[in-house]
Amino acid sequence: MCGAYIGEQARRGQVCERCKAELPRTEQAVIDANSTEMALTEGKPPVKKTMHIERAAAFLFYEKDHPLQQVIHRMKYADQPLIGYELGRQAAIEMQDAEFFDEIDVIVPMPLHPRRLRERGYNQSLYIAQGISEVTGIPVDSTHVTRIKNTPKQALQSGEGRKTNVTDAFAVNHPEQMYHKHILVVDDLITTGETVKSCLRAMRFFRGARFSVFALCKAR
Ligand SMILES: [Zn+2]
Repeated sequence: MCGAYIGEQARRGQVCERCKAELPRTEQAVIDANSTEMALTEGKPPVKKTMHIERAAAFLFYEKDHPLQQVIHRMKYADQPLIGYELGRQAAIEMQDAEFFDEIDVIVPMPLHPRRLRERGYNQSLYIAQGISEVTGIPVDSTHVTRIKNTPKQALQSGEGRKTNVTDAFAVNHPEQMYHKHILVVDDLITTGETVKSCLRAMRFFRGARFSVFALCKAR
């Protein structure tokens, strides 16, 4: 984040100890009705009234001109997905104390459209999910939810455009294998929450499942 050299022993994607201490934490894991939860539950609910979100929290606030912005940009677009892995690990270490991951059966990273995946070469949310998995021991599943519609890059869109673009952007496979599980959906950055809500709507076919949401960052 600061550009300091942290030695040859450092793992790729690691931030230095000083920057780690200064990450713009949200503390949302211990705040009910936090802004991430509100983004997902306000307005049109994800699906019907029956779809209940158990827990939702972001680890960090994403703010324009904060040095974290560059780090997240590199994670998403500049072939440095291990940043996601390291920040996912750090989030899990800290949020575990708040029992955020208790009783979760499986972690589902937000899928990328296959074409976007080919262009970028990786799904950053999968790396974040793997970092969380390493700490918590909860398995990652990226086979039951797929992205069927390729929407333009979020950063280029206004809130309204985003709302209409993500309708039915996701599909599920073998829903019966996910019945009655507590699923943690993992996203890299939540802005309006519409993309995650669209993903949750597709997962309504996971009968009896419960849902929680983790975002690495929440835009202010
Ligand atoms: Zn630093």
